[in-house]
Amino acid sequence: MKLGEFSLIEILTKKLKTLKKEVVLSVGDDTAVIKKNSTFLLLTVDALVENSHFRREWKKKIRELYYLLGRKLLSISLSDIAAMGGEAKYALVTLGVSESSKLEDLEALYKGLSDASVEYNVDVVGGDTVRSKGEFFDLFLLGESRKFMRRSEAKPGELVAVTGTFGDSKAGLELIEKGKEIKRNFLINRFLNPTPRLKEGKEAVRMGVKCGTDVSDGLIFNLYTIAESSKVSIFIDSGKIPMSKELLSFCKERKRNPLEYALFGGEDYELIITFPNDIEKEITALGFKVIGEAGKGSGVFLDGKLIPKKGFDHFRRE
Ligand code: MG
Ligand code: MG
Ligand code: MG
Repeated sequence: MKLGEFSLIEILTKKLKTLKKEVVLSVGDDTAVIKKNSTFLLLTVDALVENSHFRREWKKKIRELYYLLGRKLLSISLSDIAAMGGEAKYALVTLGVSESSKLEDLEALYKGLSDASVEYNVDVVGGDTVRSKGEFFDLFLLGESRKFMRRSEAKPGELVAVTGTFGDSKAGLELIEKGKEIKRNFLINRFLNPTPRLKEGKEAVRMGVKCGTDVSDGLIFNLYTIAESSKVSIFIDSGKIPMSKELLSFCKERKRNPLEYALFGGEDYELIITFPNDIEKEITALGFKVIGEAGKGSGVFLDGKLIPKKGFDHFRRE
């Protein structure tokens, strides 16, 4: 099957019906949202799959690989809760274990999961283990929030801001794939041990921010998810996109363009929000950096030029 993840989701979810009136948001945002008395439940699920998210042979290069995968398994779902401005509560885990899986690896995975769950105050309360050809680890996370951010709430004239830096994770992945012996460094950590921006998400909601998402698929791609669901255009300024000094020197050494990593890299697990400009001071005080603004119409524009949604190749040719 050659279908992309997103067209597949579209085809399949058309077959589902929403039955209950308390379902506020189903498919199409960072989490589902269910109204429960005066609060909202946030539901999300994510998986790490052998040979699409990690390779077992990386363990030869990074001894603590499974420990980090255990942390990442929770962090990627925490990032979706952060994107709603919520608080994470309970998790369920499904492990796909193969004939050649090693107990020590799974123990390391659970140590990582346990450490991260203590750090973020999440209880892992159950799950399932199945036999599988390749390994996979799947985590369902339930969170809670009194108010939450949607992707569809951006308004023309609002500012667009982000947390953290972009492109590090893609560079980290390249280091792991291509390196023979690797020292864990900032870029590799950004790929294997991302930091969910829970505090920033919660604070943004508290300041009245209504629109947000997290960057799992690349900055441009996830700006498009906001632009399309909010029916606005987004204009960003290449000079304002936060990039780490580690990414800049990684790219300099290899004569690559860091902006390509930052715009299209993916797995950054940073937040994007939009908000009215009268709270700019409060928002930047939380650590968000303004990178542009929303306008009428459609599309995502970099320095005034339209960037296509799957813009990587196109961008390169120009
Ligand atoms: Mg997300
Ligand atoms: Mg997700
Ligand atoms: Mg996913």
